[in-house]
Amino acid sequence: PGTLDAAFFRRWLDAAAALIDEEAERLTALDSAIGDADHGANMRRGFSAVRESLAAEEPASPQAVLALAGRRLVSTVGGASGPLYGTLLRRTGKALGEALGERTDPDRTEFAAALRAGIDAVSALGGAKPGDKTMIDALVPAAEALSTSWEAAAEAAREGAAATVPMRAHKGRASYLGERSEGHEDPGAASAALLLGALADTAG
Ligand code: ADP
Ligand code: MG
Ligand code: MG
Repeated sequence: PGTLDAAFFRRWLDAAAALIDEEAERLTALDSAIGDADHGANMRRGFSAVRESLAAEEPASPQAVLALAGRRLVSTVGGASGPLYGTLLRRTGKALGEALGERTDPDRTEFAAALRAGIDAVSALGGAKPGDKTMIDALVPAAEALSTSWEAAAEAAREGAAATVPMRAHKGRASYLGERSEGHEDPGAASAALLLGALADTAG
């Protein structure tokens, strides 16, 4: 990869927006099985706003890119995923800023540590832990696998999302279904895998 500068993080979020746009129907189909059939539309609306804001404002540091993107997700996505992904990006950016000080180009290890802080903030906000059938089930293994490689992280996220299929949901709308939530992939875990896939594509 090149350096992990502001341009890298912008390229990542642009790639994520493009991938979400392509996969929005699949995300909504997953959410129609165990939720309210809006996850694809929510993510598409949020990430297209992120892409527009990044192009208009051109934030100059990785933490400023992530902070702006997180704010846009919170303000444009109506569903649970907006505040959760918004928190993920904002807190990852904040942790990255604190680790970097005056520098602007983290390495993969520093990014992994910041992402873990972001995931912890998502858990604190939403109360989900691994096994609850949420985005957490894709994000946690991905952050761990970042110590190996970007591609390993993307693969771990995809495996984590697939592993939500037999789980029973304990958080979010899908939890209202009880055991009827079993047998379906969690839409938020699927979108988290897309974000990690876009990250690996951008770095690789
Ligand atoms: P809504 O459920 O409000 O319609 P979305 O459909 O956009 O919001 O997002 C649903 C996804 O959000 C779920 O598939 C799950 O991954 C994630 N989610 C919901 N509640 C939580 C929570 N408390 N903690 C972590 N993730 C959650
Ligand atoms: Mg929904
Ligand atoms: Mg909804």
